[in-house]
Parts: sequence; C-alpha cells; structure tokens
Amino acid sequence: MFASMPDTMRHPAFFAFRFRSLAMRCLACTAFFLCLTACSGRPAAAQGDRPPNVVLIFADDLGYGDIGVYGHPTIRTPNLDRMAAEGMKFTQFYVGASVCTPSRAALLTGRLPIRSGMASDRRRVLFPDSKLGLPAREITIAEALKEAGYATGIVGKWHLGHLEPFLPTNHGFDSYYGIPYSNDMDRVAGGEWQEIFWEPKFEYWNVPLLRDTEVIERPVDQETITRRYAQEAVAFIRDHAGEPFFLYLAHTMPHTPLFRSAAFAGHSKAGLYGDVIEEIDWSVGQVMQTLEEEGIAENTLVFFTSDNGPWLIFRTHGGSAGLLRDGKGTTYEGGMRSPALAWWPGTVPAGAVNSALVTAMDVFPTVLGMAGVPVPDDRTIDGMDIGNILRGSDEDAHDMILYYRGTRIFAARVGPWKAHFITQRAYIGDDPVSHDTPILNHLEHDPSERFDVSAEHPEVLEGIAARVAEHQAGLDPWPTQLDARIEE
Ligand code: MG
Repeated sequence: MFASMPDTMRHPAFFAFRFRSLAMRCLACTAFFLCLTACSGRPAAAQGDRPPNVVLIFADDLGYGDIGVYGHPTIRTPNLDRMAAEGMKFTQFYVGASVCTPSRAALLTGRLPIRSGMASDRRRVLFPDSKLGLPAREITIAEALKEAGYATGIVGKWHLGHLEPFLPTNHGFDSYYGIPYSNDMDRVAGGEWQEIFWEPKFEYWNVPLLRDTEVIERPVDQETITRRYAQEAVAFIRDHAGEPFFLYLAHTMPHTPLFRSAAFAGHSKAGLYGDVIEEIDWSVGQVMQTLEEEGIAENTLVFFTSDNGPWLIFRTHGGSAGLLRDGKGTTYEGGMRSPALAWWPGTVPAGAVNSALVTAMDVFPTVLGMAGVPVPDDRTIDGMDIGNILRGSDEDAHDMILYYRGTRIFAARVGPWKAHFITQRAYIGDDPVSHDTPILNHLEHDPSERFDVSAEHPEVLEGIAARVAEHQAGLDPWPTQLDARIEE
C-alpha cells in the first residue's frame, strides 16, 4: 500500500516516529489549551480526537463461572464486578480455540488459527522445544496500532513462539515483560503429578522471565508474578499516559501450577484457586485506578477475558465453567465460551449485559477501527468490528461460530443451534467420536448442552452443514507451525 515510498519510509518505525513527532507538537498545543481551561475553573477537556488507548487483559484458563459477576458464589472479584457494573458484560463471547497458543493467535490477529498455521492435530500448543511460532506474515494488533503511533507493550504470557524471531518485540510490541510459554512447562524437579501441583514450588519448572529478548530470571518466581505484572502494567500506563497506547496484559495465572503472593494467601473462601483469582482481580483494580489517576479512563477501553475454559482435570485447582459443559481442551461451551467485560466510562454503557454472538477475533478489527487504522485487506479477517455493540447497539456480530479443535471443525453454531460433528473429551485419553447424525443442541434453551434434538430438527442440521461446507470451500489454511521441534 506504500508502493511509491522509499524503503525506509515504509518501515513501521518511520510511521511511528513521524506520528510521534506530530503527536508531540499537538500535545504541546493541547497542554497549553488545557492549562487555559484548568485555569478558568472548568473541568479538563476530554482527550479530543486522540484515538483511544486499549488495555487488553487476558487471563489463562479462567472459566466462565469463576468470577463474581458470572455467578461464582465464593470467589470475590469486586474490580471485575465493577467493570461489569460500569460497563458491559458479554454472555456469549467465544475464543478462537480451547487451548492457549491458537487462542492467543486468534486474539492478536483476528483470524482463525488455521489461517495462521497456529493449529495442529499433533501438538496443540507450542512447547519449550518448539522451533517455530507466529509467522512474520501475520499482523498483530500491536503491529497495526504501532503504525498509527501507538506505544505498544505486553506484560505477561506470550506463547506464540519463544525463539527470538517470534518474540513479542518482533511482532509489534515495543516492550515485553513476561514468560514465553506456559508456567507448567520445562519441569526439572518435583515428584508425582499430584504432589507437584498440589504443593507446587516454582523451582520445579525452569520457566524464564524475559524483558524484551533477554532472560532476566530463571526459574521465574511465580509467587510474585501476578503482583509484578500489575506493577509493570501500572508503570507502562503512567509512562505512556500522554500518548495513545496499547497494553496487552496476559496473566500467567490461573493456569496450573497455582501461585499467589503472600498478601493473597488465605484471602479467599474458595481456597488456593480463589486466592489466585482474587489477586488477578486486585490487579484489574490497579489498572482501573491508574487510568483514573492519570485522567485517561474516559479515553481507554479496558477489555477483560480468558484464553480458554477451566482445566477441569485439576479439580479444585482448575476452576469452573459454571453452567456450561466441560472445559479447556474441548469444543463444548465450557472450553470456548469465556467471560468477557468491557469498561470504557462514558462510551460503553454502564450495567449492560449483552448476549450477542461475539468473538475474541473481533477485538482486532474493533480496536483498529477505533484507532482509525484500516483493517488489512490482503487476508481473511474472521473478526468483525463490534464498536457499535460496545456503544450499546443490540445488533448481532456473528450468526455463526466455528469450534475448531486443531485443524478440524468439531462443532458449529448458527444462531442458537449448535451441531457437534465430532466430540472428544479434553485430556482423558479417549478418541474422537464422529457422529453420522450430528448432535444438535439449542444453546439458548439448553446452555449446558444436555439434550440432543437432532431427530426433531433435521433441516437445522442441513442448514448448519451447508454453512460449514461454504466456509471450508473458501478456507485458506497455512501450514502448521506447531509441530516442528528444535533439533537436538
Ligand atoms: Mg490457557
């Protein structure tokens, strides 16, 4: 799109630089007028035409039923509950996959993982011996916003490739503080499975903590990780309060092994899992408070969700999907429907509960739209701009949701109807079962997917099958990047 420009001018850094120097001049003028306004006793002006900041908070393996405002009876989440009371709660928000790596790829690119090569039927996520990661050809939210002059930072878990070419700083982020893959990987000590997870010590896992591309701590002290992420997030917001910014705060928790800081030990009635969620909630409060103290809350969208459902094999350490069926790793609702909250005082209506079908892939086109950045037109974007929904419209975003497991579609939802073509438990060793007549659930009448009504509605199944076939006919998969291993 910049064909007539010299190479140096096409470089994203050039745009960032040019935008920033313009922005600095504008800021100087704005500061002058704001001072006049303040001196005249009127409230400070809103941030004018400045594009909004975005704080995207992503929990790991937090279930649909794990926070107060989604119905947990004993985990207390006053800050998340406040986000809902002052903003919007989504009840039918879907992630792009039911496990970490592909879900994160979907969030950051707006695309189904199969299109970016971040889906596999052999290795479902990236591991410390993985050779590849998110391909350079993919455009992340950070990359797109950086071109529009945003400061971009990630604090937390990446899990889209731990080797340098794939790290966040090579995918549009100016700065990175966090772990490159899951906190249960690279185990180097400890005993039996039960023992190491029920009384974990962070030394059991040789997980590194990185700043940008450098390892600064190994193994990372996981007990303080949620608190340190909060401190980093607060510092990032304060450092960039005067310019548009995108902060991706991707918590390591509550992915097992569970850790929390001393201040949260015994904090929750719900035990260790509850302590962990309540510390994450505290950290959400730190973000909101900082935005308010900096006077930029009304120019900032804060969006909170989780990468996939609860890891149920870990029993009380694994959270809950509430009334939804099953959890992480499956294509049942508990695996792929996440809690989702949007808070943006003055723009997102307070106390809104929205049951539109929306997805994590919608974040990409939505925030690009807010920033005035064109959505790339050289590739398929599966997300839709839900800016109007965030402002209170009750329109639907999607009428179809696809439930991929690896490279295969296990289920599809059209309107309230969900057809299961293949079913499989998450981790308990059984094989996939293909259904000659797909199982059909009406998710609005039967959110727990208990009652198969396929015999009564063959025409619904035909309609869904036709939509899936249409999707598959136009699909442009990219070769999987998840299977290749670093050579020994
Ligand atoms: Mg996860």
